[in-house]
Amino acid sequence: MHDLLPADSAIWQRVERVIQDVMRVYGYAEIRTPLVENTALFKRGIGEATDIVEKEMYTFESRSGESLTLRPENTAGCVRAALQHGLTTDGGVNRIWYNGPMFRYERPQKGRTRQFHQVGAEVYGAAGAAVEAELILMSARIWRELGVADAVNLEINSLGTAQERASYRSTLVDYFRANESSLDTDSLRRLETNPLRILDSKNPEMQALNDAAPQLSESLGEDSRQHAQQLQDLLDACGLTYSINPRLVRGLDYYSLSVWEWTTSALGAQGAVCGGGRYDGLIDMLGGKSCPAVGWALGMERLIALIEAVADAPAASTPHAFVVVAPELPPATGQQLAESLRSEIQGLRLVSNVIPGSMKAQFKRADRSGASLALVVGAEEQSSGKITVKSLRERAEQQQLDRGQLMDMLKNLLDGDA
Ligand code: ATP
Ligand code: MG
Repeated sequence: MHDLLPADSAIWQRVERVIQDVMRVYGYAEIRTPLVENTALFKRGIGEATDIVEKEMYTFESRSGESLTLRPENTAGCVRAALQHGLTTDGGVNRIWYNGPMFRYERPQKGRTRQFHQVGAEVYGAAGAAVEAELILMSARIWRELGVADAVNLEINSLGTAQERASYRSTLVDYFRANESSLDTDSLRRLETNPLRILDSKNPEMQALNDAAPQLSESLGEDSRQHAQQLQDLLDACGLTYSINPRLVRGLDYYSLSVWEWTTSALGAQGAVCGGGRYDGLIDMLGGKSCPAVGWALGMERLIALIEAVADAPAASTPHAFVVVAPELPPATGQQLAESLRSEIQGLRLVSNVIPGSMKAQFKRADRSGASLALVVGAEEQSSGKITVKSLRERAEQQQLDRGQLMDMLKNLLDGDA
């Protein structure tokens, strides 16, 4: 679990701003749910036989003996909230998104931490491929805005209906049983619990066996095929390129029909940046009246690592100006000036001195702050009503400015930012 230090927060804020804006223009509204839910929600919602529930959850007992879990993902929590507040039964299409920490007890490594952050989008009440295309296009827009569009690839697949998956499951089990001696220990265990996950194995020795396995697409019925085709047609019509990956099954139990993943080769082994899919059965399974649902989640740490690898990361923002006041002047002088400038100039980043000291000491602090300008008030300025402006970064004559001139200068400085 990592600290996000002040020097690194600028890029997080920029990414969050871009995401917020994109969500807003697509008509998605933010939801914030608790970090802790009943353990049973995740067991039922994610599936007992998944990696997350089997070995990755932070589960503890509350004082009253309830079993609680730090959320390992947020689809289940969103559905719980949606059910509780009627978002799946109001007859409309509800578009929501979230941003926040998730917790998984996995082996920490590059690209994988135990507290990480996901942004996700979920839609309740729309059954067709159109909403899947919308969700995918929305993430594509986020990649473009952040300058990483060329570094990610979209893979899609169809998992069919629950029945089709069940019939495929038995086909697959037969196939792997016939090849049991070639299975690794993980796969042997999954053969009993979640055989589709064997296809997801990252073990190179499993590759050939998996490549030759019967494909899910062969078990799909006419409706599922049509649904898959519709999504492809929509993506084609909107100019998005993708590849079909018949082995993409995603880690969670609750998906059906369309699933997809955005991957990158720029981050080494942990290449999944964003994954999503349809989960029409989940709401019903969690006790609600059945309602179509679909969504995706992206990993913020991986997205940010990708931006740092391939795009321009923003510099940490430094103050525009630092207020320096002669020690003999009344103690409120600096803060009064700073407050009035903050009120008049929206977005001005202004730091005022808070540690009493000589002018020399204050100038040192002004320099360390990274500010471009020092705004200096001495006895002379106090009586003339002017401010001395001294550049801290460039060789330039200091200037004595009246209030109007100072405003113009600061506004120019802000315009230069944009
Ligand atoms: P992976 O195959 O890498 O384990 P996953 O299938 O477990 O990913 P999801 O549950 O689909 O991942 O979560 C969506 C995204 O969240 C992933 O694509 C990834 O970017 C990010 N993510 C998942 N687990 C972690 C983690 N432990 N640390 C950092 N990011 C993570
Ligand atoms: Mg995982």
